[in-house]
Amino acid sequence: MMTKQRISVLGAGFSGLAAATTLAAQGQDVTIIDMHHQAGGRARQFEANGFVFDMGPSWYWMPDVFESFFNKFGHQSADYYPLHRLDPSYQVFFPDGDIVKLPGSREEQNALFESIEPGSAKALDKFLADSRYKYETGMREFVYKPGHSVLEYVDLRIFRAMFRMQMFSSLSKEVRRLFRHPKLIQILEFPVLFLGAKPENTPALYSMMNYADLGLGTWYPMGGMYKIVEGMVSLAEEQGVTFHLGEQVTGFHFADRRISNVVTTGGDHPVDVVVNTMDYHHLDQQLLPEEFQEYGAGYWDKRVMAPSSLLYYIGVDRRLKGLIHHNLFFDADFGAHAREIYDHPEWPKDPLFYVCCPSVTDHMVAPSGQENLFILIPVAPGLEDRQDIHDAYYDLVMERLERRTGQSIREHVIYKRSYAHRDFQKDYHAFKGNAYGLANTLFQTAFLKPRMKSRKVHNLWHAGQLTVPGPGVPPSLISGQVAAAEVLRSQKRNA
Ligand SMILES: Cc1cc2nc3c(=O)[nH]c(=O)nc-3n(C[C@H](O)[C@H](O)[C@H](O)COP(=O)(O)OP(=O)(O)OC[C@H]3O[C@@H](n4cnc5c(N)ncnc54)[C@H](O)[C@@H]3O)c2cc1C
Repeated sequence: MMTKQRISVLGAGFSGLAAATTLAAQGQDVTIIDMHHQAGGRARQFEANGFVFDMGPSWYWMPDVFESFFNKFGHQSADYYPLHRLDPSYQVFFPDGDIVKLPGSREEQNALFESIEPGSAKALDKFLADSRYKYETGMREFVYKPGHSVLEYVDLRIFRAMFRMQMFSSLSKEVRRLFRHPKLIQILEFPVLFLGAKPENTPALYSMMNYADLGLGTWYPMGGMYKIVEGMVSLAEEQGVTFHLGEQVTGFHFADRRISNVVTTGGDHPVDVVVNTMDYHHLDQQLLPEEFQEYGAGYWDKRVMAPSSLLYYIGVDRRLKGLIHHNLFFDADFGAHAREIYDHPEWPKDPLFYVCCPSVTDHMVAPSGQENLFILIPVAPGLEDRQDIHDAYYDLVMERLERRTGQSIREHVIYKRSYAHRDFQKDYHAFKGNAYGLANTLFQTAFLKPRMKSRKVHNLWHAGQLTVPGPGVPPSLISGQVAAAEVLRSQKRNA
């Protein structure tokens, strides 16, 4: 019988909710603390003028990861939200005026590829068979590992799999080996460009994301992505987790190189174990005294961050034509924008951008006859962030959106809010104003990411998008579960 410990989970985003629920289900005394009055972290939601805006994630990919989480506790996603498959999954606006809709079925995807590049359907079959292997092997052998050390991967079977999974070749090379048409290359490279790093710096391993995209499909929880958060909060409460929302963590007390108390704006919480899911850098560099810091400032400065984002939440007083749920505006120079994000960080001259229009699918997110828009421009982290810059990019992207869809939109905008680096820093203490954590480069994969288990503070673990397995909602769900399993394992060892 495991002893009951007082565990504080810091941060109520997906990784915090997943960690807290997993620990509480094993009989632990779990408290979750977050500075916001609403759980969900980057996936919080707000309402304005009758519009309901999801603040962060909008793509529901890898439904198996959500299902497996809920199944662990005898539930399924359908207990909390109806899941709807989007078909087409998304549409892409290209510079030549062409608009390509990505169909849900594999047969129609093949027909689409073939119509753009003869012979490419066969190449797509092969590419997706490989990326399916990577996805399934990755899920089984790699993703649910804590990444404490290289030794976890030293096993002949896994080593062979690593080669077959092309850990050491780049995604860009792999895509270009099989496809020549720039449109197909962009469709296959977009998942990593938007979430991680330049395709030439991303291990081909991550083509597993193409299987997630084209094989498993794009889904939508009716009511919005926040429905996932509501479901997870209700499950956490069912398992006995106590919530302390609206309390900011400001420091710790220590005894014998262990955290004895978490200090917050709401009081002082005595603890046996801490699982941190707040921005790793914030806790490490701003809340821990120097002797307990896992890394130095130099280490953090060398990390390659995933892009930050300039976001707009927009309410329009009428229905719009030409938009579907997910719209990618790739009608600008892909390479130039990638260089402005990764090589020479600066505000992009002519950016690619993404428009989510959930009111196409879901009448709950906008008043009747009106439209809800969420616009995202991926930008380099650490840029100077000013309101006049937000205003200039608003005009730039709206002009393109109006031109490409053939309608005036700006004069019908009745709600507008922008959000970028300063907001990520204020709301999440995000390092360099990052939106989605660390880039998925080879040298920031698995055991090369910031460590899950602190070497300096004996009862401190980390989860979330800055540690293993990486950025995104499904990886955050996995991260929380892996950290919780490690806490339980260590408890058993010490019992
Ligand atoms: C704009 C945007 C779009 C995205 N799109 C997608 C998408 O379409 N699909 C997808 O899968 N992923 C997407 N992501 C990524 C995904 O949302 C994140 O990787 C994931 O939500 C991170 O969860 P987390 O639990 O690690 O961190 P967070 O959600 O950041 O949770 C950490 C929590 O800790 C709190 N905190 C920080 N400091 C303190 C403190 N001192 N005291 C108390 N609390 C504190 C924060 O306020 C926050 O609530 C997107 C992210 C963004 C920002």
